[in-house]
Amino acid sequence: MHELSIAQSIVQLAEQEAQKYHAWQITEIELEIGVFSGIEIQALMFALEFAVKDSLLEKADIIYLPIEGKGECRECESDFLLKSLFSPCPNCGSYNIQIVNGKELRIKSICIK
Ligand SMILES: [Zn+2]
Repeated sequence: MHELSIAQSIVQLAEQEAQKYHAWQITEIELEIGVFSGIEIQALMFALEFAVKDSLLEKADIIYLPIEGKGECRECESDFLLKSLFSPCPNCGSYNIQIVNGKELRIKSICIK
């Protein structure tokens, strides 16, 4: 299960970060996840419930922040909201598009104590 290994890496990364500050508990974690990341949010949240057991994140509030898709046209250089990976540029109709936002998965912040 893809999401379970992602959940485990999130817990590992957050714990590493917290240990740098000698924290004994993480109270909150904010995750930024792009709409094109391919991650099933429900599945990830479910996997996290298991992954946080016996970790510093056991009591943490997990906050999910979706990142909208953003594309940039290589032809006319305009940027725009991207609703799907296969949408054309709304300005010139080109399909030669670079995805700027929407594929990310990152820990935006953690709160520790
Ligand atoms: Zn264009």
